[in-house]
Amino acid sequence: MTPKFSDRHLLDNLDALAQIGALSGGGCARLALTDEDRLGRDLVVSWMKELGLDVRIDAIGNVIGLRAGRENLAPIMTGSHIDTVRTGGRYDGNYGVLAGLEVVRALNAANVVTRRPIAVAFFTNEEGARFQPDMMGSLVYAGGIGLNEAYAAVDKDGVSVGDELRRIGYLGATTPGALKPHAFLELHIEQGPILDEEKVLIGVVESVQGISWIEYTVTGVSNHAGTTPMRLRRDAGYLAASVNLFARKLTGEMGGNQVATVGSLALRPNLINVVPNRAVFTVDLRNTDEAKLKEAEARVAAYIAEVAASERVEVEAKVLARFEPVIFDAGLVDRVEHHAKALSLSTRRMPSGAGHDAQMMQRLCPTAMIFVPSVAGLSHNVNEHTKPADLIAGAQVLLNLMVELAES
Ligand SMILES: [Zn+2]
Repeated sequence: MTPKFSDRHLLDNLDALAQIGALSGGGCARLALTDEDRLGRDLVVSWMKELGLDVRIDAIGNVIGLRAGRENLAPIMTGSHIDTVRTGGRYDGNYGVLAGLEVVRALNAANVVTRRPIAVAFFTNEEGARFQPDMMGSLVYAGGIGLNEAYAAVDKDGVSVGDELRRIGYLGATTPGALKPHAFLELHIEQGPILDEEKVLIGVVESVQGISWIEYTVTGVSNHAGTTPMRLRRDAGYLAASVNLFARKLTGEMGGNQVATVGSLALRPNLINVVPNRAVFTVDLRNTDEAKLKEAEARVAAYIAEVAASERVEVEAKVLARFEPVIFDAGLVDRVEHHAKALSLSTRRMPSGAGHDAQMMQRLCPTAMIFVPSVAGLSHNVNEHTKPADLIAGAQVLLNLMVELAES
């Protein structure tokens, strides 16, 4: 028999998890490895155990719940993350993890034991809002960085990933990546406006944009805003502002799906009548084409060098994250589309504009993603919303595809 999905459990669990770190207005703040993250983890682990999953915690704090199959084969894994940004919504990441639990519940209720085991995972620090790089847990899982490098990452207060993992009790014993899946699927809200705008239900995700995050620290000279002639200024803030304008102009010139954002900018001393002597700002560049992404990086760097020379300020660049674009497994992407269409759901093939754990898992095994609409495209925002019916539709696609793969 075909396992049937429990709508109520998915929606109730999303509500219950959203109560931890709840923000007024509907969102959540569960930054990675904080007390709120620990409480969220504890709750999801308790649900995994209730469903009879064998829960394993690895040395970077990734949590995997395993459901045995008829044969001792590589599992079909699904998962995402439950950490959020400081002004996070309730669906980003959480939806994929909790829908994975509903796949297990449906199989349990139907008394189905699949040929391959089923695994549901949540990965540590996907957001990168507190510790960089983002997608840290899945990156370690896929062997992209070593444990010691990840442990050494520190937040703004100098607190390290290793210390926080130990403090919240999630520095586990198993080796990240030891359990290599046969295939990996991630169900996620789109976090962009395309599906909502086009009234399409299921995004069949073919690729993930490459991401370049660079933090620039500019050192100039502070001086009086009234007495210092313009030609004698060494204004760190001027460079930062210029780069923001240049980046916008660059996206227009390059076209395609090149995007650029100066999302963080801090000036010192940050006073109305003082020329800033220091500016720290970030540039986030993304493209689905690696050559174009490299071109954008090179053009921003050249522009910064030019303005720094004319303004006579010093610039230091620090790479916070750099990931090449990822192409998902074509065969698996086809199966996502097939199962959505079999349920009479409208589909659209698309790249992912945001980074996801799935892009790391593609290094290990065939991987694909399923998107559902985000109302008005809002995400990383307390007003992030996906209609219950859409959440359920996406989860049903995941369930049907996992059942098929688990018999393969
Ligand atoms: Zn996410």
